Amino acid sequence: MKKGVLKKIALVGTGFVGMSFAYALLNSGECDQLLLIDIDKVKAIGEAMDLNHGLPFAKRNMLIYAGEYSDCHDADIVVIAAGVAQKSGESRIDLLKRNYDVFKSIIEPIIQSGFNGIFLVATNPVDIMTKITLELSGFSPSHVIGSGTTLDTARLRYLLGDYFSIDPRNVHAYVIGEHGDSEIIPWSQAYITTKKVYDVIESSKGRFSFEDLQKISKRVTGAAQDIIKAKNATYYGIGMALVRIVRAIFGDEKSALTVSIYLNGQYGINNVYAGLPAIIGRNGIEDIIVLDLKENERTAFINSCEFLKQTAKEIGF
Ligand code: NAD
Repeated sequence: MKKGVLKKIALVGTGFVGMSFAYALLNSGECDQLLLIDIDKVKAIGEAMDLNHGLPFAKRNMLIYAGEYSDCHDADIVVIAAGVAQKSGESRIDLLKRNYDVFKSIIEPIIQSGFNGIFLVATNPVDIMTKITLELSGFSPSHVIGSGTTLDTARLRYLLGDYFSIDPRNVHAYVIGEHGDSEIIPWSQAYITTKKVYDVIESSKGRFSFEDLQKISKRVTGAAQDIIKAKNATYYGIGMALVRIVRAIFGDEKSALTVSIYLNGQYGINNVYAGLPAIIGRNGIEDIIVLDLKENERTAFINSCEFLKQTAKEIGF
């Protein structure tokens, strides 16, 4: 990313997730240009018009327009939130295969445009779609990032903040592994301000309990299904998580976020994308934080990665 040059984001997929991201981006004023692309061109044009009408009320001016893959050549970040929904009776693997075809139709023309920035993927199953993006783009793993467990981590921090009556921004706890059913919360690494969650519970004289932590775990893992049951889809939280990652990149923040990263020997695992805290800056993934996990947490993390590896293998990755 060139210093002093306009910051440009291309968003592919102007559905619920894509547009929640775009709306949050408009409100936070994180970039100078926002390019919208969708297979449904009319929708992308309509979304650009709608956002543009918010500009007079926005924090700063921005150029927002609907365009083509060739317009990605000078983008700093391409965010992908395009995908197809599961058809009734369709298996997870068949859905994955269809989303692979969607990604092929997106990534190849982006690479042909001369794009040389950072890919940020939100489409589910996000860990596998990010690996597919790595393979199709031929980019360095530091420049191919998945939203991973950023949203799950936010859900955990919100629930812990509520439970311990503390600002969620002062909760330091992570969800790692698959963005999905096999994800884990390493409680040994969870802090409320500067105190270990374990110690806070033990010194609370019964006010807080380990049983409640288990209930919180279930609520984190089940959050997406609960929201889908109530309103069919989840999008505001992920939209804000994507803006948070973009801000860390543009601001060269060196922030620790639980994005989906390419494991290359960490915990003895290779060739898989999974959620782990990583340092995010102008060069994408700048470092991976290896957590000092307890044996059971380590085993659960490895199992989660193995599950992702097997699933990717079933579609040839
Ligand atoms: P949506 O159906 O509202 O939007 C998908 C968009 O992709 C549509 O506008 C569609 O026209 C577009 N699209 C489909 N095929 C395309 C193609 N070949 N090229 C370009 N655009 C194409 O869906 P949504 O609710 O916005 O969800 C999008 C994705 O985000 C899903 O995979 C969903 O599971 C995922 N998601 C991820 C997280 C996360 O934490 N990573 C959270 C919520 C949802």
